[in-house]
Formats: sequence, C-alpha cells, structure tokens
Amino acid sequence: MKSQCLLVGLIICSVMTGFAQNSTSYWQQHVDYKMEVDVNVKEYTYTGTQELTYTNNSPDTINQVFYHLFFNAFQPGSEMDVRSRTIQDPDDRVGDRISKLSDKEIGFLKIDQLKQDNKKLDYKVVGTVLQVRLAKPLLPSKKTTFKMKFNGQVPVQVRRSGRNSEEDVALSMSQWYPKLAEYDFEGWHADPYIGREFHGVWGDFDVKISIDKEYILGGTGYLQNPQEIGYGYEKEGTNVKRRGKKLTWHFVAPQVHDFTWGADPEFVHDKRVAKDGTVLHFLYKDNPSYEKENNFTENWKNLQSKTEDLLMFFNEHIGPYPYDQYSVIQGGDGGMEYAMSTLITGNRKFGSLVGVTAHEMAHAWFQGVLATNESKHEWMDEGFTTYISTLAENEVLSEGKENPLSGAYRGYTYLANSGSEQPQSTHADRYHLNQAYGLTAYSKGAIFLSQLGYIIGEENLTTTLHTYFNDWKYKHPTPNDFKRVAEKVSGAQLDWYLTDWTQTTNTIDYGIKEVTEDAGKTTVVLERIGLMPMPLDVSVTYTDGSTKEYYIPLRMMYFNKPGAQNIQKDWAWAIPTYDLMIDGAKSTIKKIEIDPSQMMADAKRENNVFEN
Ligand SMILES: [Zn+2]
Repeated sequence: MKSQCLLVGLIICSVMTGFAQNSTSYWQQHVDYKMEVDVNVKEYTYTGTQELTYTNNSPDTINQVFYHLFFNAFQPGSEMDVRSRTIQDPDDRVGDRISKLSDKEIGFLKIDQLKQDNKKLDYKVVGTVLQVRLAKPLLPSKKTTFKMKFNGQVPVQVRRSGRNSEEDVALSMSQWYPKLAEYDFEGWHADPYIGREFHGVWGDFDVKISIDKEYILGGTGYLQNPQEIGYGYEKEGTNVKRRGKKLTWHFVAPQVHDFTWGADPEFVHDKRVAKDGTVLHFLYKDNPSYEKENNFTENWKNLQSKTEDLLMFFNEHIGPYPYDQYSVIQGGDGGMEYAMSTLITGNRKFGSLVGVTAHEMAHAWFQGVLATNESKHEWMDEGFTTYISTLAENEVLSEGKENPLSGAYRGYTYLANSGSEQPQSTHADRYHLNQAYGLTAYSKGAIFLSQLGYIIGEENLTTTLHTYFNDWKYKHPTPNDFKRVAEKVSGAQLDWYLTDWTQTTNTIDYGIKEVTEDAGKTTVVLERIGLMPMPLDVSVTYTDGSTKEYYIPLRMMYFNKPGAQNIQKDWAWAIPTYDLMIDGAKSTIKKIEIDPSQMMADAKRENNVFEN
C-alpha cells in the first residue's frame, strides 16, 4: 500500500511463510457495515453509529473479536510515534510530528457503546486495537450483529489520513472508522497500526455521511442520492436544490474490504466514462498557487485520458476491473490505494502525476481485488503493483524503455549487496530500516514477477496473471496460492523459487569460471556461487557477428522453458560447476554472456560475461 508507494531514494516514485492452503477448503469471513456519521467540520470531529453483521464462515467458534482504531496512532507516545522517533531512517512525513500534537490536533476513535445482538459487551482499548469479549460465542456458519456508537477526531495530517493536507485538502478520510480485524486460516490479524499495510474483511458497506453542504466528497462506493447532492454526480441538466445546512451523502459499496473518502469545499469534480463503461471520477482543487509551479489544472485535465489508458492496460494484462467506478482524489500525503479509489497529492509534474496514478490504480487489482494480507506479504501487493504499473506507465507515456524495470533491479542489487537485507517474509512493520522495507517490498517484489517471466517464459507469466486474477479475485491469496497457479499454468516446479526468493536472503550469483578449448570445441565452465538456484540462458557471440543461445534447465524444476533453443542437460543445484560445450574454437568467440536479458537478478553481474 502505498504511498509509501512512492519512496524517495533509490526507487524514486516509481518504484512467508508459505502456509499451504488448499483452495478447495478456502473460506473467508464476511461483514456487512451500515454506518451513519455526522461530521463537525469546524472541530474536525465526528460521531457515528455502526451496525455490523458478521458472518462466521470459519470452522471455528469465535469467543472474541478485534477492531482496528487506526486514528489512535496519531497520539504522542503511540507505537507509530515512538517507532518513528527510534528507527534509523524515519519517514520524513512522520519524523517526530506525532509527539508534538496537542489534544486538539491528535486523532482518536472512542467507543461510546457496543452491543452484540442487543447485549452490552465488555471491551478494552489497547492502543490502536479494540479487544472485545463476546457475550455469546459465534458458532461456525452463524451470524451476529454488533451495534456501536462511536466518536472520532480527525488528526492533523501526519501520515495518509487527516485534516488539512499539505496541499490544503480539508479531509483525507482513510482508516477513519472502527474496522473489524480479519480472522482467517491463520487466526486473528489484530495488528497494531505502526506505520503501514492493511488487511481487511470482505463485505458490503452502506455509509451515510452528513456534512456541511459546501463540502464535495469522493471515495469508495456508489452515491445513492446524486439528485439531492449534485456537484457533478447528478444527471446532466438537473437543477439540484440543496436544502438545510448539511447534506447526507449516501454511499453503497459491494464486495470491498475498506471504505475511504475525501472531502473539500473547493473540489472540482470531472467525470470520464472509459471504453469499458467504468466511470472515472477526478476530484481536485483549483488552487492558483499550484498553477505557477506545475500547470496544475492542465495536468489534471490531461490525466483523465491517461487514467483511461491505464485502466485498459490493467484490464488487458491482469483482468477486467470489476467495479463500475474509480475515483482519483487529491488528498493524503503521496499516493495511497483504497477501495475503488486513491488519494494522491496533485501538485506534480505531469509524468509524476500519471506515475502515481498508475501505481495506485494498479493496486485496485493487487490489493483491491486480490486482497493479500499485505502486512505479511507486502511484496505481493507493492511488488506486483510496481511490476505492472511500471510497464503500464512505460506504454501510456510512450517512454519506450527497453527494460522499464531496470530501476527495480538496481534497487534490489544494491540491497542484496548492502548487508541490510531481510527476507521478504518479514512483517511489514518489522524491518530494521524503512529503506530495506521499501526495496524488499517494491523492487524485489516487482522482480519476483519479471524474473518469473525469465524462469517460465513470458507467455506462461501472462497466463499466470490472468488465471491468478480469475481464481483469487475477492479473496485473500497467499504466496503459495500464487505459486500454485504459476505451477499449474506452466508445468514447472517452483517451490524452490518461492522459498529462496521470498523467505531467505539467498542471492543469485552465477559466473563464467573459465573457457577452455580442446580439439576445436570450446567448454565454458560455469559456476554457481550464490545459494539460490536458477535455470540459465547463455548467449554466445562469434567474431563473425553470429550468435547462438543455449538453455540450461534447472533440475529441480523438471521443466524446459518454452521456445528455448539448444536445450542442454539439466544442472543439479548441489553441483557447484557445470561444463557447457559450445560450437566453435575459442578463437572464433567474441563474447559469452549469462542471461543477456538481465531479467535474472544476479547480484554480481561482473562475472557473467567472458570477452575474448
Ligand atoms: Zn503501492
């Protein structure tokens, strides 16, 4: 997730445990939220009621539940605050800002009343988590209804959500309501909110937001009363009369796992209907001071056709976007994906505006629809998103880069040689450096896919992505689920790939040890130096300009890459060297190279090339 999505540094803005899970026994919990919220825009506070019907599809009896109270993170002394002040490379958006918030500036969510099927419940607030003992155990396949009264205060914007963003958007309302934690085959995921990544329960949302009538909203869900609201949501030509001081915006969002909104009295609202029928909404401020720096309005107008192009790219390369609308909303503190929408900062150069939209919109697939537990498998949403959005951006902006992902390879290679790498299966909150998290989730995560294309072939990768989308949409896929799809599509055995790449810091390092000649035949002695196995493509260029490609299968894959030429005997991982016999005397050879495509993330490429 996230906006972090846009990390500064090596990957400038563009940039498990494999529990076996049998898809035939897959289950997931279900929630139906009905919320009514009344917002005080002067005090940045709100009161709300929440009726939550919870269906227990698990095989277990549930005796307690957990809710997230994310806004409690924005209080001095919170885990998010202390973590930011003690980590070596804090996010400069956070720094020590939380520690300096006054009572009127902090965020909070307070529970005023909570009942289960009309029985009062005991509960305990533990930082950003609400722990609730049930009055009556919830048996498998049964439902129960929680009714809650709550009140909240919108924090000064420090991270992602909050009031008065740096670009002066009034309300960026993500992670704003008491949100039930997910219970799945691993048990409860009652993670404290420390800095990043989310995991939610699939369900349906019905949300009514009452707010001063000058405020214009955008976000998750379909507006149910556009004729009363207007502001560009109404049927064209309608004369909308807004009565009273406040308007109640009524949204419905089916089959999502979160609900987010943004609001500002000065939002401009544009709409565009894409070729596939999806209605794209754009909400942004017409602020003259941005105009000078970046042709702000022109950029936001030009963004609209590019957003449609991005949508069509993702539809084609992953699977059809399954909702009827998507909203790009100015807000937040960088870029962050939410259900059917994104909050992005808008005062950017055009390429950056398209880039951030590409990234956040790609998350509508990798996280919005394919809802991995991103706290545990952050590389599956950030990495997969980075992979596809980088390719999309290259096409939509006609950048024409030969390897659009070269930045991700550079970032990962730096990390792999830095000594500060942790396995990708590390919980997103528990990297010792923010930079190590960023490079692991985004860069190494993107390479997981592009390198898989090298391993099983591009066509198999394409089919894998489509099949993964079809099989796992509206669910919580795990790393193993993705691997199994790739195995079934390609026929290759890939357990080694998932294990070594995502659960260890083993590196790939193959090299050319020596080149010898005997009776006019040349032998290339190849060496596996790193611990991680790989099949090898080897290219030979002769002095007459001709080339020949060789393919060395990896024994434990039991597989040859489709289209590979000059397939050699397989290389068993445990054997450190391999003799590759090639045509021609040594003197006729100009160059020998392991993986000229550079799609294999060899951590030390210097030894991949022999030149005569
Ligand atoms: Zn992201």
